[in-house]
Amino acid sequence: MTSILRQDDNLQTTFADRHIGTTPADQRAMLDVVGQPSLDALVRAAIPESIHAAPVTDSSIPTAVGETEALAELRAVAGRNTVRRAMIGLGYADTHTPAVIQRNVLENPSWYTAYTPYQPEISQGRLEALINFQTMVSDLTGMATAGASMLDEGTAVVEGMLLARRASKVKGDAFLVDADLLPQTAAILGHRAEAVGITLRGFDAADGPTDAQLDGAFGVVLQYPGASGRVVDPSRTIERVHAGGGIAVVAADLLAMTLLASPGDLGADVAVGTSQRFGVPLGFGGPHAGYLAVRAGLERQLPGRLVGVSFDADGSMAYRLSLQTREQHIRREKATSNICTAQVLLAVMASMYAVYHGPEGLRFIAHRVARTTTVLADVARAAGAEVVHDGFFDTLTLRFAGRAESVVTAAHEAGYLLHLVDADTLQVSVDETTVPEDVVALAAVFGAADVTVPGTETAVRDAGTGVPSALDRESAFLTHPVFSAHRSETRMMRYLKHLSDKDYALDRGMIPLGSCTMKLNAATEMAAVTWPEFARLHPFAPREDVQGYLDMIGDLETWLAEVTGYDTVSVQPNAGSQGELAGLLAIRGYHRSRGDESRTVCLIPSSAHGTNAASAVLAGMRVVVVACDEDGNVDLDDLRAKTTEHAEQLAALMITYPSTHGVYEHDITEICGAVHDAGGQVYVDGANLNALLGHARFGDFGGDVSHLNLHKTFCIPHGGGGPGVGPVAAKAHLAPFLPGHPMAQDADRRTGADASADGDRPAHAGGPVSAAPYGSPSILPITWTYVRMMGVEGLTRATEVAVLGANYLAARLREAFPVLYTGESGLVAHECILDLRPLREATGITVDDVAKRLIDHGFHAPTMSFPVAGTLMVEPTESEDLAELDRFVDAMLAIRAEADAVARGAWPAEDNPLVNAPHTAASVITGEWQHAYTREQAVYPAAGQAGRKYWPPVRRIDQAYGDRNLVCACPPVEAFA
Ligand SMILES: *Cc1c(COP(=O)(O)O)cnc(C)c1O
Repeated sequence: MTSILRQDDNLQTTFADRHIGTTPADQRAMLDVVGQPSLDALVRAAIPESIHAAPVTDSSIPTAVGETEALAELRAVAGRNTVRRAMIGLGYADTHTPAVIQRNVLENPSWYTAYTPYQPEISQGRLEALINFQTMVSDLTGMATAGASMLDEGTAVVEGMLLARRASKVKGDAFLVDADLLPQTAAILGHRAEAVGITLRGFDAADGPTDAQLDGAFGVVLQYPGASGRVVDPSRTIERVHAGGGIAVVAADLLAMTLLASPGDLGADVAVGTSQRFGVPLGFGGPHAGYLAVRAGLERQLPGRLVGVSFDADGSMAYRLSLQTREQHIRREKATSNICTAQVLLAVMASMYAVYHGPEGLRFIAHRVARTTTVLADVARAAGAEVVHDGFFDTLTLRFAGRAESVVTAAHEAGYLLHLVDADTLQVSVDETTVPEDVVALAAVFGAADVTVPGTETAVRDAGTGVPSALDRESAFLTHPVFSAHRSETRMMRYLKHLSDKDYALDRGMIPLGSCTMKLNAATEMAAVTWPEFARLHPFAPREDVQGYLDMIGDLETWLAEVTGYDTVSVQPNAGSQGELAGLLAIRGYHRSRGDESRTVCLIPSSAHGTNAASAVLAGMRVVVVACDEDGNVDLDDLRAKTTEHAEQLAALMITYPSTHGVYEHDITEICGAVHDAGGQVYVDGANLNALLGHARFGDFGGDVSHLNLHKTFCIPHGGGGPGVGPVAAKAHLAPFLPGHPMAQDADRRTGADASADGDRPAHAGGPVSAAPYGSPSILPITWTYVRMMGVEGLTRATEVAVLGANYLAARLREAFPVLYTGESGLVAHECILDLRPLREATGITVDDVAKRLIDHGFHAPTMSFPVAGTLMVEPTESEDLAELDRFVDAMLAIRAEADAVARGAWPAEDNPLVNAPHTAASVITGEWQHAYTREQAVYPAAGQAGRKYWPPVRRIDQAYGDRNLVCACPPVEAFA
């Protein structure tokens, strides 16, 4: 007995031990290979002495607890949120997430741990799900082409406005804005338009813009149905804008589009909106997938990712990302949008909601919503209220002379959230979760207790809708068989499994993607995302209902400020790119507040991530590129020359630390000093924080503002390309310019007249960059739990082990593939760049061949050709174990040996396992085998692979064909024959 007990004691494992893949013994072996005596010595040697952070004495981060305790604490946090029936509307509707989708997508690591589908051969499942999303959006909106998700509706409208400016024949800078636009969209639009010199002109959609307003307007945005619930035919305004050569953007509700004539039917050029109500939980504002779709002729203007169809090497049809050359990572300061991480997981959910319900199911849901709204209108009239609009879909504006506020209060007490407009007016929105009992309860709240309420399902079914008959939808939608083939739960479950089986995600093996930090997304961290107290809160719920959320956000803001050395943090940005934009807009606001209107130049090193330059342009700045020297560091002489040349106009330097070359630059303090001396601000891109956490802080070595990627360093899963959270952290002098929000529950996070600091946190009073006040709060429990379970010590150790892993791979691979850049100590940071250009010269084998051959070995390729063309950037993270790291080394060395065999002439240059990779099962089974190498060499290049083989579903995909022949909707079933 006693011996068993003693053994248990020894088995005590902390969460950090589970999160970190290597054991102390493994680490000692790895340190030997790297040539360092200890983890501590390794990071002391790698990170420049001058920036080492002092050890933390009284951290705000509590001592780590285990998984059970952390979840118990989070339960208590959740308990301080109150879930009421959210009938506020304003672009957010409660929804039933089909359980088959919740369990098999949202809670399934095969979907949520996947990476962005840049390697299409291992991403066919998520690419199919996304082409379903695009088809769903283009069908419902009546547009020719839809992209694969925007960050939210508000930012999608901004993208629509920018697209309209690019595509419009009108050269003016005015944009017409429907006065019935969602208020949060209007706030974002105002903030973003001002930065890029666009003037907004408001008008009433019922009257249309005046001739004076039309003059010089490059486009218009209309809300359909309006924020007030009113349905107005937008076609007359669209015609008038078209007559002058302008572009019409319509922000449309996807569920309403099953009953109403689509934007395409009405002549719009662009449709935007959100797909939230298609089964994606409210989540206190996000994450949800926004959408953007365009008419024929504008597809090459679309921002963000676009899934298309092409063929593989065997002539089979295959999906891929189309027109990637439009994207920010390639076009940099010429990019038209900075969107990188989007909302892929949520787009997959929304598309599957449409697949599951089909066109009839969606119409049924929409009819029920519309009829319940009609019943509710009758009830309100019976209670003496005026129903303000004749045409409506799901939202009523009600006038209760003098008693709107008391009705809203009574509703709150009865468990309902309505939207108070003014002393006389309120709004109420119906959604698919509204049942007749809710109508009965609201009748009592309205004071219609003694009228008969048609409180049965039948009464709802017999009611008409408020949709104007002139706008009845006549065009068909979702006619592709995929939207009617999966009606039973068994079929649906199998379809989801069929798709995820095609894909490679973290649940199969390492994804060593430099710059992307694909680490463990622990099950405990994910647990709370679907708890109703986090999932079913409306973003504009009253403060008293969301105290748990505000506490959690407050914790995170404090913790993240501490670990980065800043004074204040905003979690509002929905992705790293949006954090960049928020930070740069804060810098802009700061300079302008001091009368420095001419400070508009943003210095960016040539090695920077493409989003940096794109964000700078969207913040109204001019990009000036700073050169790098041959060691990959910022060229100090060039930096000094550029700061001198632009001294009067210098707004900021944007620099990534450690650099995108995976190196700790020794001159960082000096670089920051030079920029400050010239009157500029320093933006430190924090995407590589996994190399610093616990060891150095941006704020200490000269940063004024940074964004972090919670979906990299802090364990939010990548979701196949989103969601993300990109908090922006800053010094106190920038706090007033960080993103606030007109509807924020915390007064110190609110913009507008009633903004004030109500705590000890600096107030954020800049304009919003996301539709919801706290961005994507429902995934913040992931980061909260991670920090809570790691503590400062665990986070610090994770950094050390991440740096060890990269240096271990560099040491073992450097003979076969030169490591392009190292720091002064000869060490790399948390990632290393393998130079494959010499290999190509010697053997003709390209970086593409190596990446695709890694698929045959059962690996996801490292980051390809970023930041240097012809290289692979490898980032193992702390979560991988030694066996997996060694498996990767073995694969890379085997590939090197194969390349050498090609060079020796053992295999022809055009027929060898590298250029033919990846190999599908069909390619080795079907027909005569006619290659110079064996079938076994093709598909089992490593020993012991037979039992754990990942089979790619397609062979190498022809990228060029798909761009020349653009098809971005579900292809007909026969096409797969
Ligand atoms: C990932 C990354 C970004 C952009 O972050 P998103 O969340 O994808 O928008 C910016 N800079 C660097 C260095 C990155 O690695």
